Amino acid sequence: MADLYFTDDAERFAYKAWETLKLEPPVDVDRIAERLGVDLYREEFVEEIDGFYLRIPGAPPVVAINNSYIKPCGRQRFTSAHEIGHHLLCRRVKTKTRLFYLDSVRTRKTALERACDRFAALLLMPEPLVRQWFEDLSANPENRVAIMSERFGVSAWAMRVRLRELDLPYRRWDRRRRSQGLGAGG
Ligand SMILES: [Zn+2]
Repeated sequence: MADLYFTDDAERFAYKAWETLKLEPPVDVDRIAERLGVDLYREEFVEEIDGFYLRIPGAPPVVAINNSYIKPCGRQRFTSAHEIGHHLLCRRVKTKTRLFYLDSVRTRKTALERACDRFAALLLMPEPLVRQWFEDLSANPENRVAIMSERFGVSAWAMRVRLRELDLPYRRWDRRRRSQGLGAGG
């Protein structure tokens, strides 16, 4: 139940952000944070931490992102979007309540965490654009993932996850090559 509820909210918020802020890829996460009244900081933290969301009554909500060189730009952007997801998805929680979510490589994937990931994926890689670019780049399947992840400002890994979700067969080219190789060898 909670899972469905969070997921619905995540999808609605991502869609609404594109609608109301007239976003363009690569999505400007700083602008979204600003519009929401969230202070977004970048700091160098220990490797384990990706970022966190902190809300204390009477102060602007804070998102902090680990900008250490070991965290690639695409990953930092995904974390930023994920933390903004925490802000939006927790808006129903009473304003007098303190909130703190630490996202690290050890963070357990609860329904809320999965919903924040969902929000981030949809915010950074909206379905209509993913489908359009996937189609536009059909003549260049070997570079498609790289080009698309560059345009959306996400990691190639996140791009592949999104394509799998949408049932877009990004490995067609690999598979054909491999099966040709197998055919020739065996
Ligand atoms: Zn989180």
